Amino acid sequence: MNLQAKPQRTATIAPQLLERFVAIVGEKYALTDPQAQAPYLVEMRDLYRGYTPVVLRPGSVAEVSAILRLANETRTAVVPQGGNTGLVGGQIPLNGEIVLSLNRLDRIREVDPVSNTMTAEAGVTLQRAREAAARAGRLYPQLLPSEGTCTIGGNLATNAGGTAALAYGIARAHALGLEVVLADGRVLNNLNKLKKDNTGYDLKDLFIGAEGTLGIITAAVLRLVPRPRAVETAYAAVSSPQAAVDLLGVAAERTAGAVTSFELMARAGVEAVFRYDAKSRDPLGRPYGWYVLIELSSQQESGLRDALEGILAEGHERGLVLDATIAESLEQAKAFWRIRELFGEVQRHIGASIKHDVSVPVAAIPAFIADADAAVTQFIPGSKTLPFGHLGDGNIHYNVMQPATMAKADFLAQWHAVNKVVFEVVRKHGGSISAEHGIGVMKRDILPDYKDPVALDLMRGLKKLLDPNGILNPGKVL
Ligand code: FAD
Ligand code: ZN
Repeated sequence: MNLQAKPQRTATIAPQLLERFVAIVGEKYALTDPQAQAPYLVEMRDLYRGYTPVVLRPGSVAEVSAILRLANETRTAVVPQGGNTGLVGGQIPLNGEIVLSLNRLDRIREVDPVSNTMTAEAGVTLQRAREAAARAGRLYPQLLPSEGTCTIGGNLATNAGGTAALAYGIARAHALGLEVVLADGRVLNNLNKLKKDNTGYDLKDLFIGAEGTLGIITAAVLRLVPRPRAVETAYAAVSSPQAAVDLLGVAAERTAGAVTSFELMARAGVEAVFRYDAKSRDPLGRPYGWYVLIELSSQQESGLRDALEGILAEGHERGLVLDATIAESLEQAKAFWRIRELFGEVQRHIGASIKHDVSVPVAAIPAFIADADAAVTQFIPGSKTLPFGHLGDGNIHYNVMQPATMAKADFLAQWHAVNKVVFEVVRKHGGSISAEHGIGVMKRDILPDYKDPVALDLMRGLKKLLDPNGILNPGKVL
């Protein structure tokens, strides 16, 4: 399945211009060989493939600046790329743009445990940032299953969410300051460590979530938090999505802010994990329809286990929890998380799926799932749905599975039509068509149907102001 409309092509650029770009980074870091370029041109699910005259791998902010200055002067389009784990095609050069890879900008410039900040360059992987924070006795609280590959720059450019957003917020909440190279090559130095800075418009928020369309993030000051002293994890079967929402309420009420994660999983996905992942076992004795993975964390060393037991006991009494188990060790907690983390990946073994990363108000999740299930199965009879994800954030990864009786290609040809069916239900419940992954190219054409027209107008105005020549990731988002 390839969602891009255009056939594979070869990118062209005037040889003299190419030479000027190459001279900025040096030949070693300007990839023109197709084999060397290959990993930058296709995203991991192979939904999008691109082509480019050159992949530039600058090693300094000054080089990024020089590249953009030249690109702007010569109206040469550029696609920024971090770890290439984005899920909406935003990082792929679909129209022969130059790829600007940030992964050599990978210095952690400073960790300041007193101010609780870390200054990291865009190409630092999330995992390295978390490890650096841990070495200083702190937590960098962004957590994505793609942490080994995705980068700080990519996380901020997509305003990534993940499994700890319930307690700590999404990427936007983690950035205190940014360094950004603008389309004309100027460097916006906004690398402050301040929580409080009311000296005008908050410019950094423009670039966070802009998917590389307004500027290139080269570094960020990230907010660190204390490392929790106690963590408890439960794997619980619940009677329904409504029961899961009610249990979240119980957990929030009984623990005052200790709920770090509250993840929902439908049985069919859990079952696929047990079937296709040799390392995973069902933590409960028999199958149930719905599960939640609950993680509590606290600065207090004692009492958390009691709190989790209290939540589950009340849930049981009220008929919300059907069965549950609490991790007895770090290993067991990891095994519970493995089920959740593999949830998305193993689905390919049970057929093709059409995916959505939507959000609705938490209270509307049960009605959203019921209404979307009804609408989807009416549209594609025999299809099954597989909702899972960050229930605590109202963010459901709503996957529609290929019916056994339908050919994969025929099913996937319905991708955008199925999106429309689901998005109408999202609209009805006051939700968003993208809670995490962004718009990229995947949802670009449908965005105007769901975004307030005045908001879209302002977005176009900002794009014109910051990138008048349209060189930054053109054709993405807008
Ligand atoms: P890329 O994929 O390289 O780029 C993403 C976008 O950002 C592109 O538009 C690109 O042009 C732009 N960009 C990249 N770097 C910069 C920069 N320095 N300056 C300006 N623009 C830039 N996402 C979630 O939100 N939550 C999840 O739980 C989650 N789980 C995932 C699990 C898996 C297994 C995978 C594969 C992906 C998951 N994602 C998730 C999606 C993805 O990991 C995130 O979007 C991540 O933030 C992308 O980072 P990246 O460095 O790979 O960016
Ligand atoms: Zn997610």
